Amino acid sequence: MNLVFLGAPGSGKGTQAMRLAHRLSIPHLSTGDLLRAAVRDNTPLGRDAQKYMAAGELVPDQVIIGLIGEKQAAGELARGFILDGFPRTVPQAEALDALVGDGAGIDRAILLQVDRDEIVRRLSNRLYCEACQVIYGMATNPPRRAGVCDRCGGRLRPRADDAPDVIGHRLDVYRQQSQPVEEYYRTRSLLLMIAGVGTPDQIFSRVAAGLNVSVDA
Ligand code: ADP
Ligand code: ZN
Repeated sequence: MNLVFLGAPGSGKGTQAMRLAHRLSIPHLSTGDLLRAAVRDNTPLGRDAQKYMAAGELVPDQVIIGLIGEKQAAGELARGFILDGFPRTVPQAEALDALVGDGAGIDRAILLQVDRDEIVRRLSNRLYCEACQVIYGMATNPPRRAGVCDRCGGRLRPRADDAPDVIGHRLDVYRQQSQPVEEYYRTRSLLLMIAGVGTPDQIFSRVAAGLNVSVDA
């Protein structure tokens, strides 16, 4: 299956995409994770992307489309995929359609819907693992040991772009540049709308039901 996750920052795309990828045994590609890894490793891509990310702006389309193009060229999209954080603009959605070809195409775009107050609460209360990129919500899914990743023992930190003054701007950017992507898939009858509130398990059950896959493997 070729799937994309849509939704505002903090809507839970990463968590749900990771679970679904595991359930379906297909790759999960998060452009945010790829960019943060590039920043951490100080690659040319990372040096280029860092200033946009810290300011809550989108990285330019040509940069991010090039990144996904590389994954495609490496065969990483060949046996199904779940994209998380891409496409985020209409030109990116068009580029993706061109990349995956008309025959295969995108099967579903899953939109996680969460209202703005809840988003701001979540983004102000989360930490992420620099090593393995897992996100912890201090209210909803705290780590067992404060400041330490359950999964890999890495150090947990706030993301630079979760700073209070950047959050509002990211939400505006989502509304202006990414909400049209919801329309793009809606007009193609591919949009699956899922209420993004409740526990991660509850949300995953809705996603699975919407895709007609059973929750357990
Ligand atoms: P969130 O959805 O919480 O904002 P992501 O991890 O998806 O977080 O993205 C973090 C940042 O990485 C974005 O604010 C943006 O600067 C950059 N980014 C990620 N994906 C894209 C994309 N498809 N196009 C442009 N910029 C992107
Ligand atoms: Zn970790």
